[in-house]
Amino acid sequence: MTSGIRFAGVSVAYGGHTVLDSLDLTVEPGEVMALLGPSGSGKTTALRTVAGFVRPAAGRVFIGDRDVTDLPPYQRDIGMVVQSYALFPHLRVEDNVAFGLKARKAPKSEIPGRVAEALEMTGMAAYARRYPRELSGGQQQRVAIARALAIRPNVLLLDEPLSALDAQLRSGMLAELAKLHRELPEVSFLYVTHDQVEALTLADRIAVMDRARLQDCGTPQELYRRPRTAFTASFVGNANLLPVTVGTDGVTLDGTADGVALDVPVADAAPGATATLCVRPHLVGLGEGPNALRGRIAEVQWRGATHRLYVDVAGGHRVKADVRELRETPALGDAVTLHFAREDAVLLAAGVTDG
Ligand code: ADP
Repeated sequence: MTSGIRFAGVSVAYGGHTVLDSLDLTVEPGEVMALLGPSGSGKTTALRTVAGFVRPAAGRVFIGDRDVTDLPPYQRDIGMVVQSYALFPHLRVEDNVAFGLKARKAPKSEIPGRVAEALEMTGMAAYARRYPRELSGGQQQRVAIARALAIRPNVLLLDEPLSALDAQLRSGMLAELAKLHRELPEVSFLYVTHDQVEALTLADRIAVMDRARLQDCGTPQELYRRPRTAFTASFVGNANLLPVTVGTDGVTLDGTADGVALDVPVADAAPGATATLCVRPHLVGLGEGPNALRGRIAEVQWRGATHRLYVDVAGGHRVKADVRELRETPALGDAVTLHFAREDAVLLAAGVTDG
């Protein structure tokens, strides 16, 4: 096995400060794994340990079956794409793409064919003779991707590759990256981003990072529907996070004098324990229904297809509801009732404050 990436207890520290804490994570051969998290959470550091630019203080990094921890970057069989393109300004596109092949001493006769193939894959064949300054940002990033692919890597590392592009170009490039991955089914992609849309769109699985640690890992659907932590719930999609106390069959909302009872799945949570209830705003309905929460409109935002209602309910909690087809916009202070279905609620361990 030559593809796939495995982090085994990888830690990195700078000046005694741990910025990556015992990362255990496997990227399967041919899988697209997104590392998603806020700025400073250790994503780039993790990626750079695979590239060989950062040495772990502890743990091992594997590419396929090979322990690459002690290998220099050029022996690791990886392609890398960064936010800033990092093309050589004095080299034509074709020479930029050939650079890695020459550095690796690929047979001279093979180089033109490999360059043409990589430029073809990224739709840049017609630009081979241009210089980087003669290209748009999006085109430069394609060349950077072509350069990474020319060495036919088993692993492609992408560090915020779309961050420098404007919103419209970004969504086009996302679709192209997805297509590229379909054309390279054996190659593992490790994709660093702070943008949940990129991660949800592109990744087979998402590894959620926060404060140097892996918080959660799963398919986009799993993380969205069944987040394990409050951090994941609020970072992947939008969430209502309500502090609750577990009962024998359901929970009660904390901070309410008479204990508003909610009928939600409690799985194996111990009665009496504090927990956090997660309900997605688009799964909260306006009007009477199961798990009714009465309150007053605190804020209304019109978002085109939906209205986002902020409702202050019992216990001083504010609940968000994304409601479609609202004929009349409720006024601030109006008394309303919200509700949600039992199966749309997820109970998370440990208490948090309101989201
Ligand atoms: P992310 O990619 O999630 O934004 P990084 O992995 O770049 O996060 O950084 C994680 C932490 O490590 C940050 O606090 C950052 O300031 C610190 N850091 C990264 N590189 C270095 C370095 N070369 N020297 C010192 N601190 C660094």
